[in-house]
Amino acid sequence: EAKMQGRNEIRAYSGDLVAKVSTHLSIQSDLRKALQNGEFQLFYQPKISTRDASVKGFEALIRWVHPVKGLVPPNQFITVAEDTGQIVEIGQWVIETACRQNKQWLDEGLVNVRVAVNVSARQFKEGNLIEVIESALASTGLKEENLELEMTEGVLMSDPSTGDTLSELRSKGIAVSLDDFGTGYSSLSYITRFPIDTIKIDRCFVQDITIDSEKAAIVSAVSNLSHGLNFNVVAEGVETETELDVIRQLRCDEVQGYYYCRPMAAQDISEWLRSRSAVTSLKSAK
Ligand code: C2E
Ligand code: MG
Ligand code: MG
Ligand code: MG
Repeated sequence: EAKMQGRNEIRAYSGDLVAKVSTHLSIQSDLRKALQNGEFQLFYQPKISTRDASVKGFEALIRWVHPVKGLVPPNQFITVAEDTGQIVEIGQWVIETACRQNKQWLDEGLVNVRVAVNVSARQFKEGNLIEVIESALASTGLKEENLELEMTEGVLMSDPSTGDTLSELRSKGIAVSLDDFGTGYSSLSYITRFPIDTIKIDRCFVQDITIDSEKAAIVSAVSNLSHGLNFNVVAEGVETETELDVIRQLRCDEVQGYYYCRPMAAQDISEWLRSRSAVTSLKSAK
């Protein structure tokens, strides 16, 4: 009986694997067309100051507007693109598009902040990241001071040369954020070793923070440690006012999350910015 069961498990598992490999292959060939046909789009989500609710920056988040599947979120294709290496070309498109958009917001007088793009390990290893960024800045006219890179601890650790690349980019004025902090190694020795400006506390520590005292303790510790090391602290995934209150008490500098604004298309962000500045000038006129 046990043997039979074992066999079924193997069959079920290999069936799964076949399904996985074939989805992987179909995504891979679809991704190739997606770049050619311009099916990618960037959404943007603001980072907001916990002190005065001002906009401190935006994160660019990729979406795939698939001709059949509709809006595909990044967790359904980024890993494949990383495995196949297609992320290098996609990442280049992301950097150029985000720079162009931020320059437009600047020129329109809407906002003067950094736009943050997420970067993968392969962009460091084989994507001549420095040249890609320099040419994106040159062709769009955006300054280094208006650009930021976000990467996970895994990306930082992926290659010994990553630190040098980041140091060079930072010396030009580009900022570096450590994304999803707390979910990886979270080793104290290397966060002091790597050239970073900001720690982004992962959303999982914010979720239930109002009822889970352990999470509050972790956020408090990371926040204190980060300030001691002169890092800026951003809390990801703040969805409610009570979460914002706790996060503010724990002295995180900025928040990003549905409470203030979901990731939105560039035109919607423009409108969101305009309506906010209208409210602000109304308040100051009183
Ligand atoms: P991330 O960089 O940690 O981005 C934050 C994610 O949290 C985004 O998911 C965002 O939509 C989501 N989020 C923000 N606020 C809230 C909230 O209040 N509640 C909840 N439940 N979620 C919130 P998204 O857009 O699906 O992106 C997922 C991940 O995909 C990103 O995580 C990033 O690792 C990756 N990614 C996105 N765009 C790119 C890209 O252009 N290049 C690369 N390499 N990776 C990307
Ligand atoms: Mg990110
Ligand atoms: Mg994150
Ligand atoms: Mg993430």
